[in-house]
Amino acid sequence: MGARGDAAALRSLPAVHELAADLDAPHHLAVAAARRAIDERREAVLAGGPAHGDLVARARELLLELERPSLRPVLNATGVILHTNLGRAPLARSAREAVARVAQGYSNLELDLDSGQRGSRHAHVAQLLAELSGAEAAIVVNNGAGAVLLAAAAVAGPGRAIIVARGQLVEIGGGFRIPEVIAQSGARLIEVGTTNRTRLADYERALRDADGEVGAIMRVHQSNFRTVGFVEDVPVEALCELGVPVIDDIGSGWLASQPARMFGGEGAVPLDEPLLTASVAAGATLVCCSGDKLLGGPQGGLIVGRREAVAAARRHPLARALRIDKLSLAALEATLRLYRDPERALREIPVLAMLAADPETLSARAKRIAAGIGEGAGIVAASAKVGGGALPLLELAGPAVALEGEPEALAGALRAGEPPVIVRIHDGQVLLDPRTLTEEELPLLVRAARAALAG
Ligand SMILES: *Cc1c(COP(=O)(O)O)cnc(C)c1O
Repeated sequence: MGARGDAAALRSLPAVHELAADLDAPHHLAVAAARRAIDERREAVLAGGPAHGDLVARARELLLELERPSLRPVLNATGVILHTNLGRAPLARSAREAVARVAQGYSNLELDLDSGQRGSRHAHVAQLLAELSGAEAAIVVNNGAGAVLLAAAAVAGPGRAIIVARGQLVEIGGGFRIPEVIAQSGARLIEVGTTNRTRLADYERALRDADGEVGAIMRVHQSNFRTVGFVEDVPVEALCELGVPVIDDIGSGWLASQPARMFGGEGAVPLDEPLLTASVAAGATLVCCSGDKLLGGPQGGLIVGRREAVAAARRHPLARALRIDKLSLAALEATLRLYRDPERALREIPVLAMLAADPETLSARAKRIAAGIGEGAGIVAASAKVGGGALPLLELAGPAVALEGEPEALAGALRAGEPPVIVRIHDGQVLLDPRTLTEEELPLLVRAARAALAG
């Protein structure tokens, strides 16, 4: 097309307000979409491209993009069960329903229905948590990091010290570093032992040296890494004998009562995640964990333990700043209720069901995906991860569907679809892992994969 053709094509472009009038949307959105469509066309013409094509249809497409929520569901085909970037634990059906019920209207969040007096939001889960963990009392806050901060501030805080083994001065991710959290609590940190070895005598010496200043010993689970080889640490039981309060940050909230079943039977895979119940039984003053890791609930921070220590945490000003919202609380209560029946928890809590998924189910799912996609898809042996800073050494073996094609381009095309599909790239191949997908998601995945392979 010559310069005159360009000029004619540019003149024929509608005005923004004319195109916007053809779009059924709030004025500012319609104008924004129309302007983008026209700008796009003008640039195409100036670059020597075609001037035809339905401009209204293109503007409607752009409008859809503008109206699309920013936070939206994706399909997790990575096989990483607790993917922090993908929102960690999906919720059980009963938890989702509880959220919907509470979101819809008013609730007795802080009202005691018997007396008509002001109640506590913690009341909805405190009993349940005590029952499930064996602890005297419980409080929940908005995440695990908050739980640790509040526990440190309530039990020790300004003017006191907290002893931590050097091998436990960890960073969890997202900037959560134990030395900094302790500093924020106002307490002074006393480090004991070495990176790889800490003995009871190290704690005893620190207690003698600090001469009454110690508010607590904190034990922190090495969630996202393990030290192996010449290592030694002190079990929580022994720390609890030292006569000072013990705060045990166990990280992922392992509450399942049949852990061996998770991984295909006793001895199949060593389960090196601390159990909430074990720390409570050992006598820890406060035990902290996340709600949305292996517990399989909403984002939340659980603190269970001794009555007086929990009461101190509740009274602390940080408790208000860190308080859990009603939607998370509803989801947490429903999730915890499932744990009353361990079999049911295993079936209905998605994180546990994914961990425990049997090979036949995974294989059937992989076959369904591969058959649905057809050309360009094949089944390979692969291994998935738990993720989310839990069980870092555990490899969950199972089948995956490998796609043919340039992996980065394919992964990008899959992310750009609706719903976006997030995949894992391994050995130069895009893998779709059936472990982190539900049966209902499979048709969506198949459609997305076919579109990506075709386009
Ligand atoms: C994950 C984790 C935290 C932080 O919990 P969030 O719920 O992510 O805030 C704290 N301590 C340990 C040991 C953890 O594993």
